[in-house]
Amino acid sequence: MFRWTAGEPERWQEYRVSPGADTTVLDALVEIQRTQDPTLAFRYACRVGMCGSCAVVVNGRERWACRTRISGLGGRPLSVRPLYHFPLLRDLVVDMTPFSDQLGAVGAAFGPRPSAPAYEAISRDAAERREIDGAIECIGCGMCVSACTMVAANERFPGPAALNRAFTLQRDSREGAAEARWSVLLSDDALARCHGQANCTEVCPMGLSPTTSIIRLRQMATRRLLGRR
Ligand code: SF4
Repeated sequence: MFRWTAGEPERWQEYRVSPGADTTVLDALVEIQRTQDPTLAFRYACRVGMCGSCAVVVNGRERWACRTRISGLGGRPLSVRPLYHFPLLRDLVVDMTPFSDQLGAVGAAFGPRPSAPAYEAISRDAAERREIDGAIECIGCGMCVSACTMVAANERFPGPAALNRAFTLQRDSREGAAEARWSVLLSDDALARCHGQANCTEVCPMGLSPTTSIIRLRQMATRRLLGRR
């Protein structure tokens, strides 16, 4: 287990638990904190795979602790460490501020165009709605950001979750900030920086594919540049 407290060096500490068939990594963390080491810090909230706040790196791969059964991890000693690419707060707890900043960088809040009616619904059968269906269930866990090598290489790169969110907005006919967002997305540090390694897609616990969203944004941008919107 990765341990770190401000002012002290990083270290790895070993704990022993006796997991049952359904014991999750989160169950083990709670047991360790309650029975062995009350100083161990980790984050969780819903415990049922809804909030994503228990995201950690287990055996080198981003996973949500509450949905990861120890019995499915191969029976060897586990390594548990905090997400990559986020500032550490303590032990397994990271500061998610960079995640919010990345969303802010692409203008991730919906803003209706000035001429939009007060209430304008898009049918769930509409083509634009169906196209973003696979991209709207992001829970903000940050696992994709942790797995993304480009986030590590360029701190101005918005990262996979923010680009995925940008895709859902650029495909929304009610959105009023699409043009301003294109200037961000087409800058040197956004769409052009993704290398398509798909690590984000591989680890997303919700089955989203930020990689596909980025490809779709690039296709939309190409059509736009060619005047075929
Ligand atoms: S896209 Fe997936 S991995 Fe990334 S923050 Fe959203 S839910 Fe988590």
